[in-house]
Amino acid sequence: MSRCHWCDSSEVQFLCGAVIAPWILDDSGSEKLKQSGLSEYCQCQNCGLHFFSKRFTDGQLERMYSHYRDKEYQKNRQRYEPWYTEKFNSAIGNDPETIELRRKNLFFLVNKAVNEKKIRAPKVVVDWGGDKGQFIPDFPNLTKRLVYEVSNSVPIEGVARTDLIEEVKLARPDLVLLCHVLEHDHGARETIHQLSQLMIKESVLYIEVPEDRSPIVPRTKRNSALLSFLLRHRIAFIVFDAYSLFTIRVLGKKLPFQFLKQSEHVNFFCRESIVEVTQEYGFEVVAETRYSMNQNVRKSSSNALGLLLRKI
Ligand SMILES: [Zn+2]
Repeated sequence: MSRCHWCDSSEVQFLCGAVIAPWILDDSGSEKLKQSGLSEYCQCQNCGLHFFSKRFTDGQLERMYSHYRDKEYQKNRQRYEPWYTEKFNSAIGNDPETIELRRKNLFFLVNKAVNEKKIRAPKVVVDWGGDKGQFIPDFPNLTKRLVYEVSNSVPIEGVARTDLIEEVKLARPDLVLLCHVLEHDHGARETIHQLSQLMIKESVLYIEVPEDRSPIVPRTKRNSALLSFLLRHRIAFIVFDAYSLFTIRVLGKKLPFQFLKQSEHVNFFCRESIVEVTQEYGFEVVAETRYSMNQNVRKSSSNALGLLLRKI
């Protein structure tokens, strides 16, 4: 049994067998060894994190994130998820309504904390993994907006981009945004460690994650024969996947032949799990928020949880 990706505890409980999404496994050009494609869905008894145990290979991560949500990505994924259309793809997280909602929510949270004298008004903001910088709110007094971003997205006007950690450190950010990043990150613990080292005392970290853990844990066994079969038969996979999504996410019922699929999100946080590890690295919670994300994209989801943390 693997350790918790997040708090590093060995007190991990197996919940059910799972598969890696075939659109991630597929196109194995760069992978010499074809993986089994089977994974496990686990819960950490120490911090409460739910997570998929199988780590993606470098080749898989490269395929997923180097051309994140571009046309090829969308087409490849749609072969296994017919509902993953171009329109659906472009709506996820990046429609103007969602951007505005996220910016507004963060703006009010930070301003309130500033007014209550819990934190200082931010001047230098870094959005870690922040794409083009479109989620950075228009805080008054800002002198610098920087995105730390390894993909080659071109930042919007008024935002600078870097892929060098040293440059982030030199900017001496007083607010670092880590929004919708950790749920993708097998090395989430290392990310917090890095941030704790480059952030100065009294600076502020804002972590936002979706609250999207599966409401149902299917009965799927470890190394399930059904899952191995589905990985080899595309049409059958589509049918059982659609059935699982509908019965789990919409009906909320535990039924036979359901399964979970490991795709982009590998960590499923709760408040306690975030507090546990950020405390360890010297952060304390000063404010928090919970709000409903764009309802048009996925009807059955999804709340976002945000914690504003001060480095002590
Ligand atoms: Zn844990």
